[in-house]
Amino acid sequence: MAQIELNDVCLRYFTINEETEALRNVNLSVDEGEFISIVGPSGCGKSTLLSLVSGVIKPTEGEVTLFGEKLKETSDRIGYMLQNDHLFEWRNVLNNLLVGAEIRGINRKEAKERALDLLNRYGMGDFAHHSPKQLSGGMRQRVALIRTLVIQPEILLLDEPFSALDYQTRLTLSDEISTILREQKKTVVLVTHDISEAIAMADRVIVMSKRPSFVKRDYKISFAGG
Ligand code: ADP
Ligand code: ADP
Repeated sequence: MAQIELNDVCLRYFTINEETEALRNVNLSVDEGEFISIVGPSGCGKSTLLSLVSGVIKPTEGEVTLFGEKLKETSDRIGYMLQNDHLFEWRNVLNNLLVGAEIRGINRKEAKERALDLLNRYGMGDFAHHSPKQLSGGMRQRVALIRTLVIQPEILLLDEPFSALDYQTRLTLSDEISTILREQKKTVVLVTHDISEAIAMADRVIVMSKRPSFVKRDYKISFAGG
């Protein structure tokens, strides 16, 4: 069943003296549990597309449907992870993981148990009481991912989550994170400018054209013998 659907979505940004057409007639459907990646040149509207799915911005024309219903506002069923980890330096790792739960009024004890369980499971159990300042870039992104998992979203939107990292860390972390997300059976939309990362991580790769953007190609990844 389609969990995310975009029907003839157009998005234009209006500023005082300019109108920018970021997306034109985008049609896209993502099934439950599917892992897709979106690639395309800088400025083609990848981040805009994620913001639309998250409900942070609304389409100028067309419709975004999530879980079979027209999207009206941001939803707790969606987790959003960005290039910058936005960890609070003055809070330890565990307390950073509880931020989303605090905002949503999720029971603190329950959220804490879940956070500790995720830290242990993903090799970060010893770092619960460390400051983010004591962690490497890759570890910080792993904490950022765990933070989005604590609120138990069904859909995860990842906007260039590895682009601030060095090459070797990127390779290891992208591999680990796709394993985590598959284990957690999440629907994932990953935006990246790295085509090899897109192919390595996702079931399907969407290629967006230059502005004004539409979906140019939709490739299904399959493996010989798989
Ligand atoms: P990408 O993520 O592929 O680099 P974006 O979605 O960030 O692309 O941007 C798509 C287009 O929309 C670009 O031309 C960009 O300059 C423009 N744009 C993005 N955000 C805004 C905004 N808040 N106001 C005006 N124009 C914007
Ligand atoms: P807790 O709330 O569990 O007591 P803290 O946040 O006080 O944890 O600190 C946990 C660990 O992080 C401590 O070992 C402390 O030395 C370290 N730490 C805390 N704040 C900073 C900081 N600003 N810079 C570097 N290390 C810090």
